[in-house]
Amino acid sequence: MADKVEPTIVVHGGAWAIPDALAAASKEGVQNAAKRGYGVLHSGGSALDAVEAAVCVLEDDPAFDAGYGAVLNSLGEIELDAVIMEGSELKAGAIAAVQNIKNPVKLARLVMEKTHHCLIVGKGANMFAKEMGIEEVPPETLLTDSSKAEWEHYKKYQKTVSDLFRTRGSESSNSHDTVGAVAVDAQGNVACATSTGGITAKRVGRVGDSPIIGSGAYCDNAYGAVSTTGHGEAIVKVTLARHVLFLMEQGLSPQAAAQKAIEHMFQRVNGTGGLIVVNNKGEIGFYSNTERMAWASLQSSTLQFGLEPGEKIVQEYTPE
Ligand code: ASP
Repeated sequence: MADKVEPTIVVHGGAWAIPDALAAASKEGVQNAAKRGYGVLHSGGSALDAVEAAVCVLEDDPAFDAGYGAVLNSLGEIELDAVIMEGSELKAGAIAAVQNIKNPVKLARLVMEKTHHCLIVGKGANMFAKEMGIEEVPPETLLTDSSKAEWEHYKKYQKTVSDLFRTRGSESSNSHDTVGAVAVDAQGNVACATSTGGITAKRVGRVGDSPIIGSGAYCDNAYGAVSTTGHGEAIVKVTLARHVLFLMEQGLSPQAAAQKAIEHMFQRVNGTGGLIVVNNKGEIGFYSNTERMAWASLQSSTLQFGLEPGEKIVQEYTPE
């Protein structure tokens, strides 16, 4: 395990055709989440606590497809998926297809810490939430006007996928997306988390990549941590998150591995999406082949963020 690591966090707010109307809110949302997560690291907290805190901020932000503001399935209902993982013992927890939990990432963490399982879905996840005293909220409190409008607009899953996860260069549309965070703390422990409402008009009970360990997220202290976003069926087929760490095992930098993994997904299954990665030394990478991906990172006093392909705005930041 590496020692004397500079604590680092990277977050994303989804890779897809983010419309202009959501561009500013997405950029602001990822910066807020990075700051919250970094605050945890800065005060000596663990990478695991940092990614959970950052993802909760994104889940509470209606600009993103997770928690409040999640997109709707074919019946016009919310079904949420989330995963969290830590890199020292490869402990992981995930939930899928839950309908009335405000912060699914917290429930995923409880699956990791309080059960012998890695993934609990639907009714079972809600029963477990009750046991753990996690508050259930009326599903309609998680709905937003924009998720309803998007559902009205798409209704057909195939149209959603071909419009929202298209590669760069075509006209803009209306929607919002999955969130995630990766971090390394001062002890060299890495962690990752991903949370989503999935894809508008998905089948009832459809689970994508996000809560699937190795696809939506993966981490190992030996290498680093990854969180992915994009067309879930493509991501699952190439186990995208684990593939990034595989490339880093082969000696690629986080940035080179991020790009190569996305290119591999495109070549192999015509898949589109994006990902963020941090290695166990605090070096970061991010890449997407969609029109835009909202991301932000914080390390020491440097805040970085971007939305357009290749965009990287660098600002000084003083942690509170
Ligand atoms: N990957 C998510 C899913 O397929 C969606 C996304 O990242 O936008 O459920």
